[in-house]
Amino acid sequence: MAGMNERTRKALETDKRYLWHPFTQMADWLAGDPVIIERGEGFMLIDTEGRRYIDGVSSLWCNIHGHGVPQINQAIRDQLDRIAHSTLLGLGQTRSIELAEKLIRIAPEGLEKVFYSDSGATAVEIAVKMAYQYWQNRGHETRTKFIALREAYHGDTVGSVSVGGMDLFHGIFRPLLFETYYVPSPHPYRFDGTPAQCAECSLENLENLLKKQEGQIAAVIVEPRVQGAAGILVHPAGFLKGVERLARKYNVLLIADEVATGFGRTGRMFACEHEDVRPDLMCLAKGITGGYLPLAATLTTQAVFDAFLGQAEEYKTFYHGHTYTGNALGCAAALACLELFETNSILASLPEKIALLEQCLAELKDLPYVGDVRNCGLMAGIELVRNKKTKEPFVYKKGVGARVCAAMRPRGALLRPLSDVIVLMPAPAMDIKTLQILLDIVQETLRYDLPIITGEQ
Ligand SMILES: *Cc1c(COP(=O)(O)O)cnc(C)c1O
Repeated sequence: MAGMNERTRKALETDKRYLWHPFTQMADWLAGDPVIIERGEGFMLIDTEGRRYIDGVSSLWCNIHGHGVPQINQAIRDQLDRIAHSTLLGLGQTRSIELAEKLIRIAPEGLEKVFYSDSGATAVEIAVKMAYQYWQNRGHETRTKFIALREAYHGDTVGSVSVGGMDLFHGIFRPLLFETYYVPSPHPYRFDGTPAQCAECSLENLENLLKKQEGQIAAVIVEPRVQGAAGILVHPAGFLKGVERLARKYNVLLIADEVATGFGRTGRMFACEHEDVRPDLMCLAKGITGGYLPLAATLTTQAVFDAFLGQAEEYKTFYHGHTYTGNALGCAAALACLELFETNSILASLPEKIALLEQCLAELKDLPYVGDVRNCGLMAGIELVRNKKTKEPFVYKKGVGARVCAAMRPRGALLRPLSDVIVLMPAPAMDIKTLQILLDIVQETLRYDLPIITGEQ
């Protein structure tokens, strides 16, 4: 990059020498001039050149109240003066106690217990192991399998990958994974060109599977309402409720992975609320600390909890834990994050922002190469296709989505696509003015740069 300052040059050189970035083809990284972020202010990210960008995807879906939020900063500082971390193995810790009570207060009815960990993947891993052992502890030894949705994403550890359905990310690891049954996910349109799948068809599929495998299934796991990493695939209304109904009918546990959808992202505190769904296990991470620190929680019911009670020699104990489980700094950040939801009336502010976003999406719908636009609250996907009529996708290698996002940078926004789906995920607390600028940048880029990008090569 011409004219970069000395600090940038040095940081880039050191990064390329020592780092291995997640989900990144490092050959491309090494050949490019990636942006190096140094600071954050509100909803802006500032790089080593002093350039300012709107954080258009909430720092990969976790930021809620912005960067450098005085109340969260202070809460972490105050906690730091008390203690940064002490274990939850055999000891209690005040902040983790306070947070557990708050989480249960806002969670869907029926969830009564909080098991902490550090990331979305571990929150899912824990839910899966809990569901499995729940049936073992109750003497149902054959209930060992899970049902998930195709294109599901639940994290990258071996257990969470085992219930994931994204071959692009996970195909190579198949031999390492436990067997899971998959049901097609319901959405009217899909970017790989496969035909539309209605909610009723998916539910029928699920019911057939539950019937056929009766007595073999421990739990059904879903991303409620929207499958994020699959390309912001939004389920038709009623599907989630249908899954819950079938889980009850066939007496299997329901795991709701709210890692992406939780904490206001879909317009409600949790996506399950849209359909008054009460999962047996709920996974939380990403937004839990407002995007500040790695913390996660798996919430469950009294019934699941009770199945693990007994004498030590009954081996009903849940033998799972991580060193940093319930980290006090993370819990302090999470408490401050939840308090800001109230003081800033975040949930009440969402309808206006969602309406603005939806208006922008409606305008984009008619542009050339825009195959589909979809959203659930503030989680939005704009799918770019080669042929608007047939929805024929671009060849993956062409990287149209990545190039469109790159074209947004000089205009002042940082976004990260999923293949050729442009993902827009503004922080729930983003002010209307910044949101409008972000949407204008997306509009302009798709209107003016996209035709140029598609014309190249
Ligand atoms: C991001 C995500 C995860 C994984 O969370 P990590 O903190 O990255 O491990 C799990 N489930 C869903 C639905 C996600 O979007």
